[in-house]
Amino acid sequence: MADQITNYKCPACAGRLFFSAKSGMMECEFCGTKYTVQEAEEMFAEADAKATQAKSEADAKGEEWSVDAEPWREEGMKSYTCPSCGAVLVCDDNFAASSCPYCGNPTIVPGQFADMLKPDLVIPFKLEKQDALIALKKHYGKKFLLPQAFKNADHLDEVKGVYVPFWLYDGKAFGDCTYEAVKSETKRANGEEITIKEYYNAERRGTLAFEKIPADASTKMDDNLMESIEPYKYEDLKPFSKAYMTGYMADKYDVEVEDNAPRAVKRAEQTIKDALKADVKGYKTVTPKKENVNVSRGNAYYAMLPVWLLTTRYSGKQYTFAMNGQTGKMVGDLPVNKGKMWGTVVAVLAAIFGICFGLAKLSLPVSIVAAVVGSLICLLILSSSMKSVAHQRTATNYIAEGGLNVVHRSDTFVRREEERKTQGQ
Ligand SMILES: [Zn+2]
Ligand SMILES: [Zn+2]
Repeated sequence: MADQITNYKCPACAGRLFFSAKSGMMECEFCGTKYTVQEAEEMFAEADAKATQAKSEADAKGEEWSVDAEPWREEGMKSYTCPSCGAVLVCDDNFAASSCPYCGNPTIVPGQFADMLKPDLVIPFKLEKQDALIALKKHYGKKFLLPQAFKNADHLDEVKGVYVPFWLYDGKAFGDCTYEAVKSETKRANGEEITIKEYYNAERRGTLAFEKIPADASTKMDDNLMESIEPYKYEDLKPFSKAYMTGYMADKYDVEVEDNAPRAVKRAEQTIKDALKADVKGYKTVTPKKENVNVSRGNAYYAMLPVWLLTTRYSGKQYTFAMNGQTGKMVGDLPVNKGKMWGTVVAVLAAIFGICFGLAKLSLPVSIVAAVVGSLICLLILSSSMKSVAHQRTATNYIAEGGLNVVHRSDTFVRREEERKTQGQ
């Protein structure tokens, strides 16, 4: 069986060649020779072409293979042979790049990046494993509620650099919205408090263009985790080359461009709603009455973006942390020491009550309310400090140059209301 995998090896000494996040070049592990990504592409073009050919032949033949002889085929698994050591690697269908677990050679399946499957763009890794470990320590930081045993464990099950497949969507959003906008003014005169409210009907129509809203195209990846390490800086986007994948893991996409698009569209819709509402200025309150928005999609790009994934287990639960391999942004929810959390809440409750009732001589009901509200705020701050993974509702980082273009803007006066209160009530 012909090899479907390419090992990238140094032409000078046959040592392993890896893409170095530090130098941005291909480096030989043994003799230290450096090659540009372009040079590596050229050196391995022939081997890649052969491996691609072998894969398409194997795929074509695939249906004839017996499930009994190769049971993994049934579960969408494939087997590859490492050209360096001959080991059989059983991987899932989307597998595209990794290192051979037996000989450590970077293994690339060029066929997974051929033709329709070839990514358009890549952001190469800029940060190394060591950077991810340091960032994780920082992420634990001096978090008061982090269980000491978790902090002490200092053990990670896995640390891996992964190129995650993404779809990046261009698009243009249109919005036609109406708001109730209210101006409010309070005056005091002759022992009376007079509040004058002016109601306006505000209309805004406009457009907002977006460039490359990202949505990860791997079912294996948690969507919220991937949205939480945004944004990537697109000035580092490069035309795709397999050479960047050496030494890292990569899967091809398994979510189609059309299936993933609603994620980007929803974010664009919310962003134009927010932008048009923010354009209604000079009022005390602005409440949407009608929000008609729609998004017309533009180009979509297939891109591989760098992520460091770190996993650990603590009291029977898996914790996953992700770091943006370009910017270093680290996210991942942390376990909470519940005893310490409730202890703190009770202490805060008691302290506030003591100050209000004992020192400030406030009434009993007021003191109780103050203590409860204060301790609830404390609870909220404490528990939110442990959470950093969240769904992104908007796409403000991907607004194209020029920003919001308002084509219709009208504010019409509707009515005036006056409210009088005798002071002291
Ligand atoms: Zn070498
Ligand atoms: Zn091997």
